[in-house]
Amino acid sequence: MQLTYEPIIGLEVHAELLTKSKMFCGCEVVDSITAKPNRYICPVCTGQPGALPVLNQKAVELAVRVGLALECQIHVESIFARKNYFYPDLPKGYQISQYDQPLATDGKLLIETESGIKKIRIRRVHLEEDTGKLSHANAHSFIDYNRSGVPLLEIVTEPDLRAPDEAKAYAAKLHAILRYLDVNSGDMEKGVIRFEANVSVREAGTEKLNNRTEIKNLNSFRSLAQGIEYEIARQSEIYSRGGIVEQETLGFNEATGKTYSQRGKEEAHDYRYFPEPDLPPLVLDSDWIESIRMTLLELPDAKTKRFISDFNLNPSDARFLTSELSLANYFERVAAKSKSSAKIVHSWIAGEFMRYVNESGIDIADITLSPESFAQLIDMVTYKTIGGNAGKTVLVELLQNGGDPAQIVKEKGLTQVSDESFIQEAVTKVLNDNPSEVEKYLAGKETLLQWFVGQVARATKGKADPNVTRELLVKGLVERKK
Ligand code: ADP
Ligand code: MG
Ligand code: ZN
Repeated sequence: MQLTYEPIIGLEVHAELLTKSKMFCGCEVVDSITAKPNRYICPVCTGQPGALPVLNQKAVELAVRVGLALECQIHVESIFARKNYFYPDLPKGYQISQYDQPLATDGKLLIETESGIKKIRIRRVHLEEDTGKLSHANAHSFIDYNRSGVPLLEIVTEPDLRAPDEAKAYAAKLHAILRYLDVNSGDMEKGVIRFEANVSVREAGTEKLNNRTEIKNLNSFRSLAQGIEYEIARQSEIYSRGGIVEQETLGFNEATGKTYSQRGKEEAHDYRYFPEPDLPPLVLDSDWIESIRMTLLELPDAKTKRFISDFNLNPSDARFLTSELSLANYFERVAAKSKSSAKIVHSWIAGEFMRYVNESGIDIADITLSPESFAQLIDMVTYKTIGGNAGKTVLVELLQNGGDPAQIVKEKGLTQVSDESFIQEAVTKVLNDNPSEVEKYLAGKETLLQWFVGQVARATKGKADPNVTRELLVKGLVERKK
């Protein structure tokens, strides 16, 4: 009998917090790609003997924001702890983190799955500090301590996820929430959000959790899903031939899509956690926590609901638009200025606009096309001043070079003509020039009508109203039958 295995997945997400200075010193937080290495460091974040940490209040505020948004219990007292291990990117020899008394616990996040909405329990949200950045080239290793001590938030789920897609949905939702809260830049390619996936499988129908493996440093949604998928297959195969999956820490190779062993149970770290003697317990004022709660803006789920009810959008369109705050904001501004339905505005944004955004790699927040001009263009197409294809051309022009939609339409001579005599002339010419297609159409190949419409559009440089064109073509073709 072929056994089926149920995957069990828990995620740990590390997100850098968008503060100006580091977690325990005054050093500036800088872009890890563009900043010159080792220029933004001091005795505290390079672990010099005797240097003392001072907690960054802004980091605590941002962490509380996340805890509240994830509906966690925020603890008025939490404790920083030393997590001891040696690595060249960790000059102190320990990382300041939170261990048995974290800032926030017992939250939740809702995700969309194939079988509906699912609640993923959040076990804990705690504060810690990032390490330096190691890179290796030409048999040398390089270390940049600019990132050392950057505030880091760790968000850990219960083992509630059951498929790679669920893990991906959770990660994408959390990413969106962090962006909405303005606590993280969301630039995944810069490593500001990193995932660790804990994966085990068990025989379908059984309750006991099996040994898990932990895949470290997954830096994209794609790697996350791929790594988990690979692990599920690997572990299922081991159990199916009577083996045992060892508890171990794995790396993920993006090139091969495979995981590989980093260290097994025997080499597992004993971090010897103990309370950080240089920092007092973190005690929060409950009024302060409430004042942060008051500043929380509308989050993705609430916005999706509102888009469905206020704009009459279907759930998947609404969810797409609210997947990023900048996208949702831009949509709302265009919809407010446009006389067309929200559904039409959505299809422009989801279609040609997103194609441009994805191809150019531009941030939606940096789009210079004003919502007014975009709305004006959409309305020109809706109310048939110009054709749909002409509209797309003008949109790309506007996105690339700016300008005024009406002016561009005029300059390019794109105004759509529904004047019958003008279109009739083109229709007659197309029918006269293509006798064999006419014959085929009349013999029953009616799909050719669209081809004729295309020919007329070409002959009129896209100016002919396609509906009038179609009518006149059908009339002309029927006449030729006699
Ligand atoms: P650690 O702190 O040592 O990394 P935890 O017990 O706190 O380990 O768990 C870390 C993550 O692993 C959590 O997201 C948790 O939900 C998940 N997890 C725990 N046990 C399992 C298991 N058997 N299979 C899959 N995930 C698991
Ligand atoms: Mg872990
Ligand atoms: Zn410093």
